[in-house]
Amino acid sequence: MERNQMKMNLRQCPECEGERLYATETQTWNHTAVLWPRLGGFWGTTPLLVVVCSDCGLTRFYVGGEGREKMKRSAKWRPV
Ligand SMILES: [Zn+2]
Repeated sequence: MERNQMKMNLRQCPECEGERLYATETQTWNHTAVLWPRLGGFWGTTPLLVVVCSDCGLTRFYVGGEGREKMKRSAKWRPV
């Protein structure tokens, strides 16, 4: 995962301020495209960092790789 993401405050939960967080790195796949449409390549993969608070269960997802650039050009994504 990119260094700038490691600088983020991943060690404290923004919901309950708990500090027992767990993280895993995975990929978005085609079958998860309902959540992250069109961010991967032909095979539909892009890095995904998942951080879960073991106290309240809040789950955060961080899209890595080229996924964040692709969403800027995709009709499936709009600025908020
Ligand atoms: Zn929490």
